[in-house]
Amino acid sequence: MNRNSQSTAGESAGTDTLPVVGHIQPCGWLLVLDAECSRLLRASANLTELSGLTLAESVAAGPERLLGRRLMVRLRRDLKGRARLPGPLIVQRELAGRLTRLQVHAHRHGERAVVEIEPMPRQGRRRLMGRVTEWLRVIAESESPEVLLDTLAAGVAELTDLDRVVVCRFDADWHGKVVAERLAPGGVSLLGQHFPASDFPPQARSQLEHSPVRSVPDMQAAPVAVVDCRGSDGDPRDELAGSVLRAPSREQVSYQERLGVGALLSIALQDQQGLWGLVIGHGMAARPLSPAVRDAARAVVQMGTQRLFLLKARQDARYRQRVQESRDLLSRERSRLPSPGQLIRRHGETWLALFQVQGLALAHEGQLTACGLVPNRKGLDGLVARLDMAHDHEGPWYTQALGEHPLGDGLELGAACGLLAVPLRLRAGARDWLLLFRHEQVETLVWAVAPGEAARHTAVRAPLPGRHTAWREEVSGRSLAWQRIERLAAMDLGEDLALALSAYEIDRLNQRLHHEQAALAEANAQLEQLAHFDSLTGVWNRYRVEQAIDAELAAAERYGRRFALLLLDADHFKRINDDFGHEMGDRVLRAVAQCVAQSLRGCDHLGRWGGEEFVVLATETDATAAAGLAERLRRLIADMTVEGLPQPVTASIGVAAWSPGDTRKRLVQRADRAMYEAKRAGRNRICLAPVVASAGEASAG
Ligand code: GH3
Ligand code: MG
Ligand code: MG
Repeated sequence: MNRNSQSTAGESAGTDTLPVVGHIQPCGWLLVLDAECSRLLRASANLTELSGLTLAESVAAGPERLLGRRLMVRLRRDLKGRARLPGPLIVQRELAGRLTRLQVHAHRHGERAVVEIEPMPRQGRRRLMGRVTEWLRVIAESESPEVLLDTLAAGVAELTDLDRVVVCRFDADWHGKVVAERLAPGGVSLLGQHFPASDFPPQARSQLEHSPVRSVPDMQAAPVAVVDCRGSDGDPRDELAGSVLRAPSREQVSYQERLGVGALLSIALQDQQGLWGLVIGHGMAARPLSPAVRDAARAVVQMGTQRLFLLKARQDARYRQRVQESRDLLSRERSRLPSPGQLIRRHGETWLALFQVQGLALAHEGQLTACGLVPNRKGLDGLVARLDMAHDHEGPWYTQALGEHPLGDGLELGAACGLLAVPLRLRAGARDWLLLFRHEQVETLVWAVAPGEAARHTAVRAPLPGRHTAWREEVSGRSLAWQRIERLAAMDLGEDLALALSAYEIDRLNQRLHHEQAALAEANAQLEQLAHFDSLTGVWNRYRVEQAIDAELAAAERYGRRFALLLLDADHFKRINDDFGHEMGDRVLRAVAQCVAQSLRGCDHLGRWGGEEFVVLATETDATAAAGLAERLRRLIADMTVEGLPQPVTASIGVAAWSPGDTRKRLVQRADRAMYEAKRAGRNRICLAPVVASAGEASAG
């Protein structure tokens, strides 16, 4: 007898039905009914045990005869508009001369209803309820996920009396790791070992989502064919997909044989994101498992999953709280406008701990600031350039194995292995980045069974000594995985950093602008100085004096405002230069300018006309007053002493009071002539230019 036999309905039931392709386990019976649950389309070949009729007779009798009218009414009603009965129905039947309680489950498969019937031992039901309640209490009091997983394993083991119950958690690649275990004395432990993803093919996983409990009380039991009673179309294997009684496949049987498993119970661990693990129970030999116990185990697992979800949510909340505290700190500091360097110095250590990273770097405006262990400058620059090129969305970019990724290809990465890169903001086509680095996490995987081709790593696998079922493998080149909650926290931090950096940047630009404005004003002032002032004496230069004369002339023409121009020339200045040096000459010029400037009214102006000649522009001044002023200046100069000069300085001054028709040229000319007159007359004196009658006359003269 081959347990995987493709026995036909004809052989097993003695009817002339079509070939059969699906099988169930012999511990129950299965019926496939039409949509109305009134006709029998397929049935497990062992139906005779239940009905005492041949299959052909059963078909003729119909489901009511098999299950009773009352149950069928209930079943039709409860299955109406539902995919599955909300709970099992119980019916009593005489089986082999004994009244036996039967548990009936039913679910829809397309246009069909699949009904499964299992005998249910009566004894110990109340006690079972008590034990379940106790486990639910323990679960409700578990305060850590690790303890809870242990409790789940213990609870299922106690309820089912199986030899080994493990909790197996899937990683991102669907490899399962045994994270909790309850083991009967003398059993072989699988704790910490891995089941390769190839053990959980996608179709098996999607099946678990439909029917989260799988029970095979006797791996070696000969399967029972599901025979076609009415030439029904459709593949009966599909109809068995959601069945509890479905027989294990040939591969499953030989797989469990390799693990030395005689009885199997597996219950899916699911949350909103879907399947994340399995509770797997192993009996080393066949072990009858009543539907009530199976359901009890399932209830415990479901309750445990909910509790786990709650504990995980609490853990996440605590983590988010820590993240929030760090964010609050950062936002309080923002007004102080910290630079990237200051940010990293103040918070780097906190962030390293928060994200469980060995190094972090902030790439800002082409500048890099880092903390902890990060790749060298060249490596970082290379990474940032490639991220800028490759990354085109707002979310983070991450990998556990930078070295294996094209992005890290050929870069000097040092010890960095995992990277979580958060784009901060876009500026002129490039971005700022927050880069978090994790080291390699070398892990020794112990495979409970030899990983197939689908396994992710190519390291040499060697069976563990003395055990034919376990293989050891070193997994390297990977960092710890980046958890979703860590990625979200990094995004939040990235947002805060972007804000802080923008504030800092704006402040820097403002400061620069401020400096530039100050520099511009300074340059303008210098330019103004150069354009209007004489560099030796600090009084107006000739250009500025000319402007002032023009302005006075215009005011005099328009409003008749009188003014006078004094031209002052130092006497024998050449000699001072010759006798005492050019330096002394300069000093004398400065002294004369200072002496004159100090004694002028605020409305009068002094300028250097050139060489040792100065011009005084006296506003609101007629010829008499101008002569008075000139005389006063002459005397002041003659009386002044110049440090280091053993002789007095004298000057000759020509005075020209404005007269109508004067141009700048004529006015200066008149003052110049008067000044030469004073020279000729013996120097150290003043001379008044004669008043001119009219412009016409003056230019003619
Ligand atoms: P007079 O009494 O006739 O005016 O004789 P003077 O020597 O003052 O006149 P002159 O025109 O012969 O000489 C003026 C000299 O002033 C010639 C020049 O070298 C000198 N000089 C012109 N500008 C400066 C200057 O900025 N600094 C110095 N130290 N000397 C200057
Ligand atoms: Mg001169
Ligand atoms: Mg002179």
